[in-house]
Amino acid sequence: MIEAAKDLAEPLAQYLIGRIKAEGPLSVADYMAEALGNQRFGYYMTREPFGQHGDFVTAPEVSQMFGELIGLWVADYWLKSGTPERLALIELGPGRGTLMADALRAIKAVPGLSKALRLHLVEMSPRLRDLQKQTLPPLTPDIKWHGQLAQAIEAAKGAPLIIIANEFFDALPIHQLVSTASGWHERLVGLDEAGGNFTPLLAATPSLLSVMLAPHVALTPIGSLAEICPAGLQVIKEIASALEAQGGAALIIDYGTVTSAAGDSLQALTRHQYSDPFKNPGQADITAHVDFAALGRAASSARTHGPVTQARFLENMGINARAQSLKAGATEAQAHDIDEALKRLTDENEMGSLFKVLGLTAPSGPLPAGFEDPNLPEDK
Ligand code: SAH
Repeated sequence: MIEAAKDLAEPLAQYLIGRIKAEGPLSVADYMAEALGNQRFGYYMTREPFGQHGDFVTAPEVSQMFGELIGLWVADYWLKSGTPERLALIELGPGRGTLMADALRAIKAVPGLSKALRLHLVEMSPRLRDLQKQTLPPLTPDIKWHGQLAQAIEAAKGAPLIIIANEFFDALPIHQLVSTASGWHERLVGLDEAGGNFTPLLAATPSLLSVMLAPHVALTPIGSLAEICPAGLQVIKEIASALEAQGGAALIIDYGTVTSAAGDSLQALTRHQYSDPFKNPGQADITAHVDFAALGRAASSARTHGPVTQARFLENMGINARAQSLKAGATEAQAHDIDEALKRLTDENEMGSLFKVLGLTAPSGPLPAGFEDPNLPEDK
């Protein structure tokens, strides 16, 4: 399957070369959007990204504990909100559907919640939609798929919302800007002299996009590179206004930074190895670090919680106790795997501190679980 997919990716390079020859260099954002999301040849349409035989492993694929604790987080918020009769659970970019399957198992233990739930999955890849259908239990009530968040919110009108996104924002296209003596110029993707390879270059004139940089980033020295993700800001604004209008909460989990900073974070992963993002578009996962400070600023119509590290969030949600109870009924080999998974998810040298968790709620809503900071006094 992977071999067959490889052949399909070549036409994407050909198509992009043709596009650059006709229109001139592309923004990094356009290049990234095509590499990941081209309807025929994009990475998510053709490849198997996840797991040992794919290109990368995400937290829900590491252990069932991750999705289960998110299920408990959803249940906690529903209970604190006074058990509304309907709750729309929206997931952005569900991948193989593993997180949602594990979350639904935990949710089932909470009387009344499964009945209240309506599921909305936002997924652009028909291939991954099929996989999600296979992973999710056949009795899951009322699942709808949407291409975009706005459609899911529209379909969920009238009900409070819970929105979950794990490793979704890192896949949204970024623009890159470089600071020069004549201002911030956009980094573009052009062709080398032979015309067969993609190569980054600088636009001749300064870019208006620099108004989107955080003020302290805009002042970084000449030669610095900075990134902005208008697509991510758009999504977070849609989430914030939907929460304000309908009530509910959102949980954004991704790798990235708590403060905005200059730096080139564009990366490509093939078979768990870093590769050149400007080579073989469509054949590698291309992502960028998420700027959580920028997301927080854009979500100003909602109330933000955190970001905290993934380790802090999972520990607050009880991952250590969950691991202990799983180990109680496990063989020695299984117990070893549970310990390894726990370490992978929470160790600061693994996913524990690079990954951050941001919560959003309606301004007047109850406080979500998981964001307590034991270093702060109770009343803060
Ligand atoms: N949440 C999953 C998968 C993360 S990979 C996990 O943790 O395992 C990113 C997911 O987002 C994939 O399902 C991909 O197809 C989807 N995706 C990426 N960009 C998208 C977009 N612009 N619109 C809808 N889905 C998108």
